[in-house]
Amino acid sequence: MNRTLRAFLSAWGRRGPLWAPRMAGRIMRLRKAGMPRGLLVEPTTRCSGGCPGCVPPAPRDLTAEVLERWLSCAPVPPATFAFAGKHSDPLCAPDLPALAEAASRMSMLVSVSTIGLGLNARHLRMPVDRWIVSMPGATGRSYSAVRGGDSLPEVLDAVRRLAASRSFQVEVVLTLWRPSEGDVEAFRDMARAEGWRQAGAVQGLYDPSGFDVGRPGMLATGIPGALYRVERGTVSRRAPAGPCPASGYLFLDAGGALRPCLFGDSGPCWRDASRQSWLEAASFERTKAGRPLPECEWCP
Ligand code: SF4
Repeated sequence: MNRTLRAFLSAWGRRGPLWAPRMAGRIMRLRKAGMPRGLLVEPTTRCSGGCPGCVPPAPRDLTAEVLERWLSCAPVPPATFAFAGKHSDPLCAPDLPALAEAASRMSMLVSVSTIGLGLNARHLRMPVDRWIVSMPGATGRSYSAVRGGDSLPEVLDAVRRLAASRSFQVEVVLTLWRPSEGDVEAFRDMARAEGWRQAGAVQGLYDPSGFDVGRPGMLATGIPGALYRVERGTVSRRAPAGPCPASGYLFLDAGGALRPCLFGDSGPCWRDASRQSWLEAASFERTKAGRPLPECEWCP
């Protein structure tokens, strides 16, 4: 069963029998209006990871007022909301609880993706359907090699607290980087010992901007099915490109701009919240299938 379907079934179980027909109705209205089904929201540019070599962008925080301004003029509000960081982590956003409230009021499914540092009691009370907690290594040594310090115990504690609340679906993801490319077995053992029902490994992505951990020397090139090869510091994609991973989503960045794609800062964006901006951003959906941006070259 794929991750999206699992999330839908889990939300249906928790939100009651009427949730599924309401979700189907929302998706039909979105289709009719020519709108994508989801919105990816970057609540802040701040990060608690502190990975060596990462150059964080200037701090910016999305406010609930800006999110609500965008939602109030959407032709049809998105069915799903995913709070995630680009070079950042949602748990560092001062307004995250208010953002989650606004998203929950307007949508059918709210998820938060985080590196699991700084979880507090307010976060545990947010109306979230699904938490995705990612770790860059499953041993203290590999985790430290990516993050520069071993905060793995804090991440494990955050997953336990989320799971203990029984209010959310919790998924744990191992992101494979060079230092952790041999960690899959250790991660499986950890998942068994912790009783995680949803856990899996993904590969870290190359970031040509050089802002974050996804630089050439950190890519997991030594595993079967590696996405990239690196020769003399130059990265090329090993696997053929799949469909655009942002298909079906628009992206609202921490500066309040609506974008068709979360990668790169050079692509098209709309800064004024209006129905026309939504429609113009949504019309880019067909173009994305042709992978037109410079960043598409690196996208899996
Ligand atoms: S970089 Fe290109 S392929 Fe990747 S999500 Fe953006 S538009 Fe899609």
